Amino acid sequence: MNESLLTLSLSLLLFALVFIPYLWFTQKKRKTFEAKKQEAIALGHDKPVAQHPLIDQSRCIGCAACVIACPEHALGMIDGMAELVYPGKCVGHGVCAEACPVSGIRIVLDPAKSTAELPLLDEFFQSNVPNVYLIGELGGMALLRNAIYQGKSVIEHISEKIKSSPRQTNNPSRHDVIIIGAGPAGLSAALMAQKNGLNYLLLEKEETPGGAILSYPRQKLVMTMPVEIPQYGVLKKRELSKEDLLTLWSDIIQKTSLKVTCNERLEDVIHHEGALTVVTSGGNRYDAEHVVLALGRRGTPRKLNVPGEQSSKVAYQLLEAVRYKHMHCMVVGAGDSGIEAAIALSKQHGTTVTLINRGTDFQRAKSKNQDRVREAETQNLIKIYYQSSVSDIRDHSITIQSPEGSLEITNDFIFIFAGGEMPTPFLKKIGIEFTHKDRMIAA
Ligand SMILES: Cc1cc2nc3c(=O)[nH]c(=O)nc-3n(C[C@H](O)[C@H](O)[C@H](O)COP(=O)(O)OP(=O)(O)OC[C@H]3O[C@@H](n4cnc5c(N)ncnc54)[C@H](O)[C@@H]3O)c2cc1C
Ligand code: SF4
Repeated sequence: MNESLLTLSLSLLLFALVFIPYLWFTQKKRKTFEAKKQEAIALGHDKPVAQHPLIDQSRCIGCAACVIACPEHALGMIDGMAELVYPGKCVGHGVCAEACPVSGIRIVLDPAKSTAELPLLDEFFQSNVPNVYLIGELGGMALLRNAIYQGKSVIEHISEKIKSSPRQTNNPSRHDVIIIGAGPAGLSAALMAQKNGLNYLLLEKEETPGGAILSYPRQKLVMTMPVEIPQYGVLKKRELSKEDLLTLWSDIIQKTSLKVTCNERLEDVIHHEGALTVVTSGGNRYDAEHVVLALGRRGTPRKLNVPGEQSSKVAYQLLEAVRYKHMHCMVVGAGDSGIEAAIALSKQHGTTVTLINRGTDFQRAKSKNQDRVREAETQNLIKIYYQSSVSDIRDHSITIQSPEGSLEITNDFIFIFAGGEMPTPFLKKIGIEFTHKDRMIAA
């Protein structure tokens, strides 16, 4: 065998050794992702629930970085391209978009599949009212990580604007930015404003900052993804208790001497030539170049509108599950909040827990919560009624409508987690427009 023939044979052998296993592996993976996609279709999980990735196939280089990054295993590789193979699992963390090396993924909302109207925003979270921005859950994006990320991003954008255009006035009482709402989104925005040396004001209607976190059940396990908090650094923990999270925020506020004005409710935003005036419950008026609304959507819990709902045994949050020992409790709603409340109640001695689920499964919840609630159902800790709804609330019982017909269930307390009503009328009053069309909300 001459030398060139030997080289050719060795090259072919090397090629076969590398390429054949690669081909076998990618084919195997492809079959797994195809099967996952078919399963999602068969179970009706082929539509994203809320925010989700939009993959630009013309940019995708098939590196699979997003597939590896997705903690919910919602993405897969099909024909060398990334695809949202199991949309129902996606909770919109957006880590896939961050992992993509060619910026080929955007996180979008599809309000057509969402029940709520969504404010019309541009990619910097600016509404149609110039210099009024909406961030966090108010803009339609749930989860702590998104709220913190958007708070930071919106101020980066405002800071750039301020740098590139001279101030409209030398009036020192006119703030560069007023941020309303001291939940994770507003706190993150205020920290970024402080870091960038902006003249900022952070207003909160409650006695203390913290936002929706304050209403989590005691000792709730908070699930999140790594995210950078301005002036603090990267919050790396993926799981921590409600109490630890509140302590973390309070330490950050203390260490940075962040100014938070509590007990001050936003009543109006008046826009006039080149400036904005914020009017609050105390009759105070503050002038600003920019206003960032981070009001969340927990303010008004969505009601069931059934007879008896005004009873004192009805609650829209669960703070202390331990108070309901030896009680008959019902939880309505199979999203994360409902599941977490039902699980917390099921751990109390002598408590019976009924969970009312409008749907046939738990696709609105994080996969970990889905596993936990199914496990509790298998162990008979929670009795779940699917495709059911509450029709009447009385002192000692509740009537539900289920596929088995009308059922009367013995009950002492009922916890309703049907989501929150957006402060839509207020936003419309100040001139914010809403959309039903698919739109880009975060990169
Ligand atoms: C029970 C429960 C469990 C959850 N668990 C998780 C979890 O494990 N992981 C996760 O990532 N996310 C979780 N979330 C979601 C997460 O808490 C929210 O997505 C996040 O808090 C949204 O932040 P935000 O700043 O946009 O709004 P919020 O946290 O709702 O903050 C809004 C703030 O604005 C204030 N405000 C409202 N109106 C006015 C006004 N007119 N004037 C002045 N201030 C006003 C409110 O008082 C509040 O402090 C959970 C939510 C709930 C309810
Ligand atoms: S948005 Fe989050 S859950 Fe959805 S595919 Fe990307 S990483 Fe996964």
